[in-house]
Amino acid sequence: MSLPFALPLRGASNPSSNTANATTPGSFANPPNVGGPLAYSSPDTPGMPPPSGKTAWDFMPKDWRKEGSRWAAPVGFVPRTQLEHARLGLITPAMERVAQREGHLTPAQVRDEVAAGRLIIPANKVHLQKALDPMAIGRASRTKVNANLGASPVSSSTDEEVEKLRWAVRWGADTVMDLSTGGNLDATRAAMINASTVPIGTVPIYSMIVGRKIETLDEETILKTLRHQAQQGVDYFTIHAGVLQEHLVHVKDRLIGIVSRGGSLLAKWMIHHGKQNPMYTLWEDICDVMAEYDVSFSIGDGLRPGGLADATDAAQLAELCTLGELTERAWRKGVQVMVEGPGHVPLDQIEFNMKAQRTLCHGAPFYVLGPLVTDMFPGYDHITSCIGATFAAYHGASMLCYVTPKEHVGLPHKDDVKQGCVAYKIAAHSADVALGIPGARNQDDAITRARAALNWKAQFELAFDGEYARALHDEDLDVDTDFCAMCGHDWCSVRISKDIQAFASGKDPAFVRGDAVKSDALTPEQRAVLEARGNLSQEEILRLAHKTRAVVVDGAGKAVCHSDVVAEPDARAVQQARLKVLDAGM
Ligand code: SF4
Repeated sequence: MSLPFALPLRGASNPSSNTANATTPGSFANPPNVGGPLAYSSPDTPGMPPPSGKTAWDFMPKDWRKEGSRWAAPVGFVPRTQLEHARLGLITPAMERVAQREGHLTPAQVRDEVAAGRLIIPANKVHLQKALDPMAIGRASRTKVNANLGASPVSSSTDEEVEKLRWAVRWGADTVMDLSTGGNLDATRAAMINASTVPIGTVPIYSMIVGRKIETLDEETILKTLRHQAQQGVDYFTIHAGVLQEHLVHVKDRLIGIVSRGGSLLAKWMIHHGKQNPMYTLWEDICDVMAEYDVSFSIGDGLRPGGLADATDAAQLAELCTLGELTERAWRKGVQVMVEGPGHVPLDQIEFNMKAQRTLCHGAPFYVLGPLVTDMFPGYDHITSCIGATFAAYHGASMLCYVTPKEHVGLPHKDDVKQGCVAYKIAAHSADVALGIPGARNQDDAITRARAALNWKAQFELAFDGEYARALHDEDLDVDTDFCAMCGHDWCSVRISKDIQAFASGKDPAFVRGDAVKSDALTPEQRAVLEARGNLSQEEILRLAHKTRAVVVDGAGKAVCHSDVVAEPDARAVQQARLKVLDAGM
């Protein structure tokens, strides 16, 4: 075949599949380079910031000394974190387990990536003594997905959150964040850590301010809370230390200001006290607490954009520079670091955002929320953000924080958690295939083979959510035959292709087509899938959409719990009372 252009098969050496007989040889990504700054990476569009020439090796503790090509710790030093072990050349059981789970990485590669700061193993020593199964986050490994859970002051309970945790893990969450702001925060956190095989992250400022005003937050409370949560076994902390006093001036022209809870609370604290962010000034003390238990940082982006109009602005970029500085300071203290990112970003700006972080944070793993690529589809933000997340992962993000259909409008319930997890598994997996991570495409190829053979049983067994796919198939046609209800017998191109292949290979004259196989009876789960279809009829959607308006609106056209109408304590009381009314009306 001769083409008038060259095929950009830059990654023909990283085909992401062990399949020998596929017709597409490889991804168009860069060839793999585990051990360098571009482990699995997309080619840079012209104008993108180049990778940093530095790694965590350039930010060693002051009392370590270089001896030849190796670094030596002070006499009597006992490594505490995975990073410190890696710096000493040690392979921990957690690193062994990560290599086993990733498949394409050796234990030595895992250790070296951890030492370079490009891979983290969020594994609190306390949680490691429980059910935690160590995993890793970094661009040399497969893309990971986080699910945010947690009770709010108006919805859910500890038992419900533990149930949602199991459900999220069932649907592929690699880590879970407990973002509880209501109920018994301490009990919920402990219950989730005890029940979880995946790392648990928290935003500790939430429990620092329960029952008090943010203005009263002091250094003692910050360190005490962090120590308590570290002792409980939390694996990573989101700490919004990058929001500085001098950044706040950039926020005033934004369409939606500060949308991070932690960022907005700390901004309020700084304005009230006229002082620098206490998380920033306390950074080294915070590192000391975290190193003791090997809690990893997820350095929060308190100034992330809350809408497309505020993306990649001065506030966000100024904070990103500070996140780079905080990364270097944490590495000097031996603490593992990942960095959080936006949020809401137009599609064309995503690659720049990923590559700017890669430069400023020297390859520390990037953990992004979405990002949403459009703001006008509330109710469908698991889709708007999944598109952005796929781009983000292809261009460098290592972990994707899921977004559910309830984003911006309410607390996710169980089915929302599933929808969010599935959407983000799609994003993460698509990026892994595109990046050419070895073996990532194997299951896709197996399903393609099952489809080509019209082997429905195999197709559904290999599917990520086979129950769902089977239920949809059987809704129209409860026999496994050589076509489905989409095109029917005469138009089934796969069946016709099979015939062509059989003809081309010289069909056995004795060939007899087998009878169609009647599908097994639907399982209860599959029946539930079918019963749920269309459950929210358009009439019900309208009823739900209007019930709030019917019970809450006052004469002034604002909800009676709106802060413009009543004082804060009254607003809370009205909210509680109204929620009961709403529940009763369900
Ligand atoms: S009927 Fe259409 S959709 Fe169904 S298997 Fe055949 S080609 Fe595919």
